[in-house]
Amino acid sequence: MPAEFGEADIPLAFYPQCPICGQTGSTYRSLGIHYKTDHPEFYAQSRRLNGQFKRITLAFVLIALGLSRLIFIGLTRLLILGWGAIMLGWFAYFLLFWQPKLDDLSDKSNDEWRNNSRPSTLDQTVQAASSRKANSIVCPICKLGPYRLGLGIRYHNRIHHMEYFKWYRGWSLLMEKISILTVLVFLGLFSTGLLDPLASSGFAPLILVVPAFSLAVVFATNRSKKQRESRIEWIQNHPH
Ligand SMILES: [Zn+2]
Ligand SMILES: [Zn+2]
Repeated sequence: MPAEFGEADIPLAFYPQCPICGQTGSTYRSLGIHYKTDHPEFYAQSRRLNGQFKRITLAFVLIALGLSRLIFIGLTRLLILGWGAIMLGWFAYFLLFWQPKLDDLSDKSNDEWRNNSRPSTLDQTVQAASSRKANSIVCPICKLGPYRLGLGIRYHNRIHHMEYFKWYRGWSLLMEKISILTVLVFLGLFSTGLLDPLASSGFAPLILVVPAFSLAVVFATNRSKKQRESRIEWIQNHPH
């Protein structure tokens, strides 16, 4: 094992971790070296995806800079609308396209890795004595674990609770789409001036807090409901 994969005192949830074999690196750079050596195909494909990400980000920045000319002709409201739309477009690309694509790529590589009987530490449970237990979670469905937050619990769900995993992916994507649309509606309302009376009143902070809070509550409530259902189903399929 190369020296750069030593266990540094970083909270594990923020650890750069290989989504294929579970190897943890002390930095994202060291993890890059690991991909290059141990998962060359994943390395090449994720590099292509990241290259596209950089080009698209640059394009958005250039358009935003171009739009800033509007300020010189006094069209501030239009400028804010344009910048808002660009930021939303970037978030939409990041959340609805780039992230799912990278996840698919990681999952595919992980499946190939396991199909070749190579070991993966992604499903390793966190030891009770470990100080890193705070960054771990017991599986809400089968109560096994605790698994590492992030890649660990994600991997466990993908392999052992496939139905729940697929549901959760779809649900997160839907909520992300709704959030983006909500902001888009507000942006539209702002540009028409319809929100002005509210924005200049004492209720201004509520304009954003209330929808954000409502969305978060809907997201969490429905997720707990689905977890309870999956838990009941799991118990029925695994009688003691
Ligand atoms: Zn790896
Ligand atoms: Zn489980």
